[in-house]
Amino acid sequence: MTATLIDGKEIASRIRARIAEKVRHMVEQHGVRPGLAAVLVGDNPASHTYVKMKRKACAEVGIESFGFELPADTTQAEVERLVRELNERPDVNGILVQLPLPPHLDEARVLSAVGLDKDVDGFHPVNIGRLAMKGRQPDFVPATPAGVIRLLDECAVQIAGANAVVLGRSNIVGMPVALLLIHRDATVTVCHSRTRDLPDVVRRADILVAAVGRAQMVKGDWIKPGAVVIDVGTNKIADPTAKNGTRMVGDVDFEAAKAVASAITPVPGGVGPMTIAMLLENTLRAAELKLGQC
Ligand code: NDP
Repeated sequence: MTATLIDGKEIASRIRARIAEKVRHMVEQHGVRPGLAAVLVGDNPASHTYVKMKRKACAEVGIESFGFELPADTTQAEVERLVRELNERPDVNGILVQLPLPPHLDEARVLSAVGLDKDVDGFHPVNIGRLAMKGRQPDFVPATPAGVIRLLDECAVQIAGANAVVLGRSNIVGMPVALLLIHRDATVTVCHSRTRDLPDVVRRADILVAAVGRAQMVKGDWIKPGAVVIDVGTNKIADPTAKNGTRMVGDVDFEAAKAVASAITPVPGGVGPMTIAMLLENTLRAAELKLGQC
């Protein structure tokens, strides 16, 4: 079997075109343009790149973005004050605090300061709490996990009743993905660094979501024939044939897995583009909620 490639780039580009259309309509009908504030503390180069990509994506769909770059020694009180100011600004519909924050800052307190109506990253404890409760819906779902589910839906994967295995239990990917899959009636196993007999657990998965951050850790013979594989991992490995001597790979051994799975995401070009598309969708939703359109 050769797996179908789940083309996240193409799916995300269709989603972005729809968002651009809705933004255009909102500006014409209501004179309102959605706005996203991006708060970046410190000088982590990867964080700077992510924020740049997110702001560029905003511009492409007509969402206004406001950048706030604070020095690495910014105090807890200063970050929280900025977030509270942004909560009050009518031109800001969504607030994105780029993670990780420098270690001296209390991430949980900063995220809790974001107004619930502007929590477009979905990391506010109330939104995460709702995700963990039966019969409750968060206002916003974290972007990468939402992107994982959207990829499954776009490929018409049957989630209800499926055995889903999630590798990783982080607050930003593994745990919310697992909660979303439970909401969708999958039977979910969450694995982490202390899981025993990992290959055997993974072999039971009809749907596998890998989010561990270990290059090509999941081998082809861990995959159940016909499984759907969503690879969230982004890992740089040495590649002397590449221009800069490295290339990006996922947590799954792609070549081996694609011979066994029924569908698989590539890295890059799978989950990554969906993360940004979902952030844009959440920002649009925040603006729609404010206008009473949802
Ligand atoms: P974290 O480091 O926060 O979490 C990793 C998780 O994997 C932890 O739960 C950890 O277990 C588990 N883990 C680590 N090693 C093993 C192992 N050998 N066996 C089983 N489980 C293991 O990472 P993130 O969740 O933030 O990110 C995961 C990956 O996804 C990274 O590669 C990251 O770059 C990528 N990513 C991609 C995004 C995208 O848009 N494409 C967005 C966000 C992340 P434990 O809890 O026990 O420590």
